Amino acid sequence: MTSISLTAAAGEKSRAAFESARQLMPGGVNSPARAFGAVGGTPLFIDHAKGPHLFDIDGNRYLDYIGSWGPMILGHAQDEVIDAITAAASRGTSYGAPTEAESVLAQQIIDAVGSIEKVRLVNSGTEATMSAIRVARGATGREKVIKFAGNYHGHVDSLLVAAGSSAATLGTPDSPGVTAGASRDTIVLRYNDVDAIGQCFADHPGQIAAVIMEPVVGNMGCVPASEAFMKEVRRLTADDGCVLIFDEVMTGFRLAYGGAQERYGITPDMTTLGKIVGGGMPLGAYGGRKDIMDQVLPAGKVFQAGTLSGNPVAVAAGSKTLEILKRQPPYEQLERLGKKLADGLDAAATSAEIPHQVQQVGSMMTLFFHDQPVNSWDDADQCDRDRFAKYFWGMIGQGVYMPCSQFEALFFSRTHTEAMIDQTIEAAQQVLAAIAS
Ligand code: PLP
Repeated sequence: MTSISLTAAAGEKSRAAFESARQLMPGGVNSPARAFGAVGGTPLFIDHAKGPHLFDIDGNRYLDYIGSWGPMILGHAQDEVIDAITAAASRGTSYGAPTEAESVLAQQIIDAVGSIEKVRLVNSGTEATMSAIRVARGATGREKVIKFAGNYHGHVDSLLVAAGSSAATLGTPDSPGVTAGASRDTIVLRYNDVDAIGQCFADHPGQIAAVIMEPVVGNMGCVPASEAFMKEVRRLTADDGCVLIFDEVMTGFRLAYGGAQERYGITPDMTTLGKIVGGGMPLGAYGGRKDIMDQVLPAGKVFQAGTLSGNPVAVAAGSKTLEILKRQPPYEQLERLGKKLADGLDAAATSAEIPHQVQQVGSMMTLFFHDQPVNSWDDADQCDRDRFAKYFWGMIGQGVYMPCSQFEALFFSRTHTEAMIDQTIEAAQQVLAAIAS
């Protein structure tokens, strides 16, 4: 057995780069999870990526299980996507006027996602959820919004409450700067708790504008909604006349071409998208029933705009990515390899006698260091974070780049092969054996 390093071990160049970055940017990064705060140590600075691999500036190669936190379902620097980006950029990077390519992408989204009859392109998942909430409030004339603890919908003020992953990891679920007023109309409920949401609608009849949920949560680790919960949420929202928003920023085009709503056969009123829909470029989208989307300016009165929305380079990347996913669906392969990886991690943790749960849906998954199923944030919060940090650095030492928090799902791409999954399982066997005591 090769020796297993469990200590935080970034290379010399990454450490120097982080030192200078910290003088220039808050915490040295442009998005907090990247600073490795949850696992300690120095983040690896990336030089480039290709297919399933990341290459850091110290010359190390890693098998990548974050895929830019979701977008890279085709693998990094996919040739056709890069060609589409290059061709679009050479014609101009932004016009501030409509293009035919935007309609092509809009049609691709509408054809793919069952609940979307009309769509608006934006620049990020955060913009998509922020806008969807505004539209739902505008369409219903109501103010209250229900969200679930441990679900993350971007850094929208009103939704930055009990928001999972980075916020929960740092132990500051309510960010300073979010006023009490901004979150006053947000009701936070326990995920997968059928009784709690039933009670909430009984307490606030006709007052809820929207329920927003991740149908499979990626932001407290991988936690699927139970079928009973999803069905009950759909029933209650329909009965009450409020808007059910599926936040499919992570799950859209990942769990099926039509997202989690296709996989589970539940149609929300609105859907938010990001990550894969932009093919690795900054692009998000929100859409839904025509009557709701026609409330948006200039068809309706709900204001929402963006200088770079529908950006031609981002649209080219997203459109090519969706075209490839439709032409060569990777979903069966992702399903098969996901099951193989989940079984392998489960067996490795069992043989190391480590209390654990592996939760997996397609190419999203989490090895939780907890001995009970994780169905809500209350469960996720019980996990052994110290053991996770050792596991993370142990895997890095084996050349496997896992998400740097217990509360982030891993993602893999269609460029991950059976042999790579085997290699990952072997690495996990060694690391888990080393962290068992
Ligand atoms: N919604 C979900 C479910 C997400 O996972 C994320 C980001 O991770 C967002 C919204 C926010 O997207 P973005 O980071 O593009 O603003």
